Amino acid sequence: MTTVLCIGECMIELAPVGDGLFRRGFAGDTFNTAWYLRRELGDGAQVGYFTGVGTDTASDEMLDFMSCSGVDVSRVRRIEDRTVGLYMITLTNGERSFSYWRGQSAAKRLAEDAEVLRAAFEGVDLLLFSGITLAILSEEDRARLLAELSAARQRGQKVAFDPNMRPRLWPGADTMRAAIMEAAAVADIILPSFDEESLTFGDADPEATVARYRERGAGTVIVKNGAGTVAAWDADEGLVRYTPAPVEDVRDTTAAGDSFNAGFLAARLKGAAMGEAIAAGAQRAAYVIRHSGALAE
Ligand code: ADP
Repeated sequence: MTTVLCIGECMIELAPVGDGLFRRGFAGDTFNTAWYLRRELGDGAQVGYFTGVGTDTASDEMLDFMSCSGVDVSRVRRIEDRTVGLYMITLTNGERSFSYWRGQSAAKRLAEDAEVLRAAFEGVDLLLFSGITLAILSEEDRARLLAELSAARQRGQKVAFDPNMRPRLWPGADTMRAAIMEAAAVADIILPSFDEESLTFGDADPEATVARYRERGAGTVIVKNGAGTVAAWDADEGLVRYTPAPVEDVRDTTAAGDSFNAGFLAARLKGAAMGEAIAAGAQRAAYVIRHSGALAE
């Protein structure tokens, strides 16, 4: 059976429902992708999540949620005296803003033990991590995680990376840029979003983003581009472009990129060619942005 493991941080989400009340949910970039991958791949694959959580009830409830949605949590690290991170969404005149409490989250310690990483990655066909996964780690832990991912890749396991750049999570732009390019060098499949890449690296167009990541040795690069044309490259198929069908009734673009990744990766795991896989990613994302919240049933 195909096994996929997504690595990163899932948080408790508090979303306003009116009258000062909030609905609790669970979300986080790589977890969102795991959740959608599970839907894309069904019972023909095992989709797992790797993170750190505490030993408290909030952590138990997060793991229950993951298990109930079919995501395997057997590799998750339990860390005493820590708990999971939390964010609250506030709406002002229809605009969403986010407040985070994640400075002490257990997930920040997911990569402090090389043996634990090695055991968790064993036998996994596809490993996925992101720039957010890296941003929450100490420099030492970041290096440890990249070393273990690189070793997995050398053993023939596939590694996918979404740069997902959040400048506020990094000590500075130079550190972020250096870490992202270092991470790209351990990945087979790179899934950037053009708006972030042009802001951070000054890429003139998605093709420039493709070229920059190709140089790091990836076999596949897909540059997501909102409503615009996706530019992608694959060692077997060369340059591929795809323009998603227009979506008129966009409601909430949260998790557009995360769900695209799931649609794309699932199609590739099933043997689809690039064009077909990009279309599958775009289709999944188009559905998600018509619904509110990160996880659209
Ligand atoms: P991210 O959420 O990472 O910023 P993007 O905004 O680039 O990612 O969106 C990811 C994918 O979602 C796009 O490549 C596209 O397929 C789809 N998408 C996002 N916004 C739109 C839109 N307005 N119309 C159609 N498709 C969209």
